[in-house]
Parts: sequence; C-alpha cells; structure tokens
Amino acid sequence: MNIFVLNCGSSSAKFAVIDADNGREHVSGIAQRLGSAEASLDWKVDGTKHTRALPGAGHDAGLRAAVDVLDELGLTGGLAGVGHRVVHGGSRFLGSVIITPAVVRQVEDCIPLGPLHNPPNLIGIAIAQELFPALQQVAVFDTAFHQTMPARAYTYPVPHSWLEDDEVRRYGFHGTSHRFVAAEAVRLLELDPHDHALVTAHLGNGSSATAVLNGRSVDTTMGLTPLEGLMMGTRSGSVDPAIIGHIARVRGMDPLAVLDALNKQSGLLGVSGLSNDLRTLEEAAEDGHERARLAIDILVYTLAKSIAGLVVPLGRLDALVFTGGIGENSSLVRGRVIEQLGFLGLTLDADANARCIRGVGGRVTRSTRPQAVVVNTNEELLIARDTAALVAPTLS
Ligand code: ADP
Repeated sequence: MNIFVLNCGSSSAKFAVIDADNGREHVSGIAQRLGSAEASLDWKVDGTKHTRALPGAGHDAGLRAAVDVLDELGLTGGLAGVGHRVVHGGSRFLGSVIITPAVVRQVEDCIPLGPLHNPPNLIGIAIAQELFPALQQVAVFDTAFHQTMPARAYTYPVPHSWLEDDEVRRYGFHGTSHRFVAAEAVRLLELDPHDHALVTAHLGNGSSATAVLNGRSVDTTMGLTPLEGLMMGTRSGSVDPAIIGHIARVRGMDPLAVLDALNKQSGLLGVSGLSNDLRTLEEAAEDGHERARLAIDILVYTLAKSIAGLVVPLGRLDALVFTGGIGENSSLVRGRVIEQLGFLGLTLDADANARCIRGVGGRVTRSTRPQAVVVNTNEELLIARDTAALVAPTLS
C-alpha cells in the first residue's frame, strides 16, 4: 500500500512515497529554502539524485512541484493515503489519527506548545488536502509515544497551576524514532516483546533518550520543548534556568534572546566555538583543538549520565539502542559512552563498533545483557505504516 509521507517544516518540506507493506521507498525528496530565491526541489529515485530550481516558491508551489514529480513517476494514482509528521500533540493525542476538522482544531490548539513546528505542519496538511481531496490524511505525532509516561516523570516540580492552566509538563519528542528503533531492537536482539527494558538514544542535531519498558515510553529527556535534556548541536540541553535571568541582567539582554541563544548558539557549537557538526569536531579534536575536545567530552559524559538515569524507571537494562546521525555513525561517541557505562555491565566490541557506520547496524557490545545495538531509524516508514493501518479499513 503506497503512502505519501510529508514532513513540513518552516522553510522545507520533506516527502516520500513508501510502500508500507514492504518498506520500499519509491521516491524521497525535499523542497527546501522555501520562500527564497534559492528554493529548490531535490529528490532521489533508485539512488539517483535529481534537482529542480523553484525560485521564489513557497510551501504551496514546493509541494505542487513535488506532486508533479510523483505524477511523472506514475505514483499519484496508486496512493492509498497521506501521512503527516506533526510535532506537538500536547496531551490530546495518544497515537496517530485520521485527520478530521476536529483534529485540525486540536493541532491548532497545540500551537502555543509548538509555535515553530505546528504552523508549518498545518500548512502541509491544508495543501495536501487540496492536492489529494480523495485521500484520507493521517497525523503522526512526535509527542504521542511519550504519553504513557507516569505523572511522576512528566510533572515539573513547579506551581501546579502552570500544569493545570497552561499545560506546562514534559511531553518529549522524537517519539516516532524511539518507537521505531525500540521495536527494531526487540526484533533484532530477539527480546521478549512483552518483557524488555531499553534505553533508546536518538542522537542527531537534536537529541533525546527514552526509557522504553515493554514497548512503552516511561521517561524521556526532552520536556515541554526540545530544549531540555541532552547536549545537542546548537541546544544546551538541561542547564540551570537561572542562567537566563543572570545573563539577561548582566548583559542587558531580553530574556527571550537569551533563551534563543540556548537553542541556537549553545551545545556543541557554543562550547567548541567551531561547529554544531560532530564530524567537524571529531576532526578538530584529533588535530588538538581544545574546545572541540571539551565539547565531545561533555557530550559523552552528560549522555552517559542521562542514560544511566533512565535505567532508574526501568529497574534493569536489557539493551542500549543508538540511532540518529551521531548514534548511527560516530563509533567514537558510542565507544566512549559504552565504556563510561561499563558499571552497568556493558562491554564494548571495538571491531563491531567500528563497522557500524553509514547504514550498517547491529550489536556493538560483547556483553549479552545488557547489550548495545545500532539501529538505523526510519521515521518515514513508521508514518507510512501508521497511515496504512488507519486508512486500510476505510478503503474497503
Ligand atoms: P538531524 O537531527 O538534523 O536529523 P542527523 O540525525 O542527520 O541530524 O545527525 C546529524 C549529526 O550526525 C551531525 O552532528 C553529524 O556530524 C553527525 N554525523 C553524521 N555522520 C557522522 C560520522 N560519520 N561521524 C560522526 N558524526 C557524524
């Protein structure tokens, strides 16, 4: 069953046509730099890359151009549904849903929680509904997987009215990825689907780690927003919130500008002063760049501390799962984190760890319980599967 998968961001729209039954990706692409003179459509079919300039195109023209490509490939006729990535579902969505006018209103209600992401997600939904009026559309939320967290994990120790009146609580993100790699790890490692304890570490430009008990998220590192938790490419992760007031005061800055710096000028970029890209920092550290070394040291140390913390709600650890650009490719970070967590019983298999790069996954420890494994994430496939499962009954 072919599904059109759409992930609409503020200046880009990623798309793919995926057969949900076998995972085959017929086409994948991105309309990017939307709203600028450099806007373009880039797509890949059978490993071959194509590009088309779309000067000045916004979301509407970008998505129309993507659908033109689908037409040229003869894919439009065979589509069974459209699956949308939606970032913030608040506490309203516990799983994926068929999009109705009421769902759109609820996603709009979540805009204060996801002010950067939900508006472009809604634009994608509106355009796709216009382009494919006959198809059912499905929303797959980043937050939904974490709705199983207990109150002690999601409630901040702040005035309770902030939760009751303003929905201030921990939501967590990257849910589609954590859910996908957890299920894959259970399959790969032949764990009991009803009795397993995992920590999944999605490490990319944005990073989060989740404690997964028997297929359900019981705690995660990101919070109300994706700023909380692990050190990331440009995000600080968890820091003393009093830093905001302090820097605002001593530098005469608007607190919101300080918050912006915690989101965009911190993390690997802030510490190294060089780059948010781990590959660049690994090379610089090798060449003796002190702050690149420090940035990697903090990344590894704080990541190991967070992973160990997530074992608390699990009570035991069967497997640590690495994914995301860093998790799937950096044998350095994986190796050092596993060594740091040796007290949990993890022992590194250095050869296997070195082999897991650029799409190669598998076990990277010699220990069998707990073990660590690299799993390539595929959020688009999970969106396609959820969409297929929801639209199939409506097609007969
Ligand atoms: P996003 O969160 O934007 O989707 P990715 O999941 O693509 O990001 O992860 C990007 C990160 O992965 C970057 O920091 C990049 O340097 C890192 N990365 C990719 N390949 C390698 C590699 N071979 N070695 C180390 N880091 C890598």
